[in-house]
Amino acid sequence: MEVTEVRVKLVGRRDDKLRAFCTVTFDHCFVVRDLKVISGTRGLFVAMPSRKLTDICRKCGAKNHLRARYCNDCGMRLNPDRAERDEAGRPKLHADVAHPIHQSYREQLQRIVLEAFKEELARSQEPGYRPTHDDYGADEPGGDEDADDTATPQPMPPEPPPDSQDKPPSHRFGEGLIP
Ligand SMILES: [Zn+2]
Repeated sequence: MEVTEVRVKLVGRRDDKLRAFCTVTFDHCFVVRDLKVISGTRGLFVAMPSRKLTDICRKCGAKNHLRARYCNDCGMRLNPDRAERDEAGRPKLHADVAHPIHQSYREQLQRIVLEAFKEELARSQEPGYRPTHDDYGADEPGGDEDADDTATPQPMPPEPPPDSQDKPPSHRFGEGLIP
């Protein structure tokens, strides 16, 4: 499948992890929005459009994001570390909504998007630069504020010290850690 257009919307400052949103057109007839160019520890990479994963509150059945500490609806306390983890041990908080099936096409797509990003970045450093594509505008994707969720995990509460089995079970966090 041929990429026939890449629109790049630069965002953030140079030191931000999220560098751009991209809209990619395939074969002149299918558009995918919200690909992200992210500056990772091993250089730039392209993240596929994704949605936040949710689960169902046991008490009231409401949907909550996996990092939520309390249910949005009934306020029940939730374990903020309940997300499944991937092979590298990182919590799985997002699911791609569109993505290549094969690694070879993933690399090809990434190369094309990063080329477009670098061209846009070079243009942005010329005097009088105006963004070529500003079609995000008011409905800029809502996921951007936590685009680096996986890169900067929130600090975890400390695990109870090994001698804590002497203490009464005053709170449930850490249940199962102590034999
Ligand atoms: Zn609830």
